[in-house]
Amino acid sequence: MKSFAHVNALSVDHALSVLEKYGQEACVIAGGQDLLFRIKKYLVKPSCVVNLKTIPGLSYVRFEPAQGLKIGALTTLSRIAGSAELCKRYSGLAQAARSVASPQTRNLGTIGGNLCQDVWCWYLQAGFSCWKSGGKFCDLAGGDSRYYGSIMKGHLCLANSPSDTAPALAALDAQIHIASPRGTRKVPILEFLPGHQWVGNRLQCHILQPDEVLTEIEIPLQPTRSVYLKFALRKSWNFALASVAASATIEDGICQDARVVLGGIATHPYRSPEAESVLVGRKIDERLAQDAAEIALEKARPLKMNGYKVGLSKTLIRRALLSVAGEDDN
Ligand SMILES: Cc1cc2nc3c(=O)[nH]c(=O)nc-3n(C[C@H](O)[C@H](O)[C@H](O)COP(=O)(O)OP(=O)(O)OC[C@H]3O[C@@H](n4cnc5c(N)ncnc54)[C@H](O)[C@@H]3O)c2cc1C
Repeated sequence: MKSFAHVNALSVDHALSVLEKYGQEACVIAGGQDLLFRIKKYLVKPSCVVNLKTIPGLSYVRFEPAQGLKIGALTTLSRIAGSAELCKRYSGLAQAARSVASPQTRNLGTIGGNLCQDVWCWYLQAGFSCWKSGGKFCDLAGGDSRYYGSIMKGHLCLANSPSDTAPALAALDAQIHIASPRGTRKVPILEFLPGHQWVGNRLQCHILQPDEVLTEIEIPLQPTRSVYLKFALRKSWNFALASVAASATIEDGICQDARVVLGGIATHPYRSPEAESVLVGRKIDERLAQDAAEIALEKARPLKMNGYKVGLSKTLIRRALLSVAGEDDN
C-alpha cells in the first residue's frame, strides 16, 4: 500500500478544506468497506485520505411529516435496513439496504459510500489494462461479461452500476445533497449517477468533483408503495446480476403513478419511463406487468455472454410490479 496522509475531519467544512488543498490526490473514507480494498490493490493511490466518520451529526434517519425522509450520508446500511419508519413507508429502500453484502459489511458500510462506490469488474480488480486503470479498452466488450457487464449501451467502461440502494432511491425520486467549497447543491439521484464519465483524470460513475462530499439524501413524501427485488448468485455477500426497484401509487385499484428502475444491468440505475407510462391509469395485473417488463427491456443490447440478464430482468419486473400492486404471485 502506498503511504498517505490521514485526516480525521472535524466538520464538513474541515473535510472540504482538505479536499480543496489536495485536489485529485485526495479521497474521502466512510465505512472503508470498498476504499481500503482498492487502496490495498493499488486501484486507488491517494496522497491523503479524509475520514468522514469523525464528523458529528452525519448519521441519521429523520422523517419529517411535511417534507419526507432525510438520511445522513454516514448512516449505516444496517440502520437503514432496520429502521421501522423506513420499513413502513419506504420498504423498497429498506429491502435494498438489507440485500447488500453481509451483516458485517452493512454494519460498517454507509449509504453515502454505497452510492459512491466504484465498479467491481473482475478485469479491473485483476489488474488488466482498461479505461479505469489508464488503458484504452474495455475487456467486457468481447470478454467474460456474465457477471459485471451492462446489457444497455455503455460509454467507455461497460461495467454495471453495483449499488443496491441506488435503484431503490431512484424509484422514490430521491435527491442528493452535495457540499463543496462553493456552497451546497441538490441533484436528482439519476443525475448524480449518470454512468461513467471523466471528472479530471478519474473515470467515475457519479458527478462529484474532487472537492465535493455527499452529505444527505432526501426522499419526498409520497403516498407510494415500493419494493426491491434482487437476483444474485448467492443470497448474501454478492452483487446483483439484476435487480428491480418499483414504486407505485395505487388508488381504488388503479395505478396513478409508477417508477420502474433496474439495477445490475447498466452503467447507471436504469429507469424505464416507457414501462411506467403503460401502467398509469390501469389496474396492474399479470398481463400488464408482463407488458411493462417487455417494454422496459426493449433497448437491451447484451454483450457476448450476458444475454440471460434480459429474461431475468423481465421476471423481476413482473414480480415487483405485482408486489407493489398487492397482486403478489410469490
Ligand atoms: C465482498 C463485498 C460484497 C459487496 N456486496 C454488495 C452488494 O451486494 N450490494 C451493494 O450495493 N454493495 C456491495 N458491496 C459494496 C459495499 O456494500 C459498499 O461498498 C458499502 O456500502 C460502501 O460503504 P462505505 O461507507 O464502506 O464506503 P467507503 O469504502 O468508505 O467508500 C466507498 C467510496 O465512496 C466514497 N465515499 C464514501 N462516502 C462518501 C461521501 N459521503 N461523499 C463522497 N464520497 C464518498 C469513497 O471515497 C469511496 O470512493 C460489497 C462490498 C464487498 C467488499
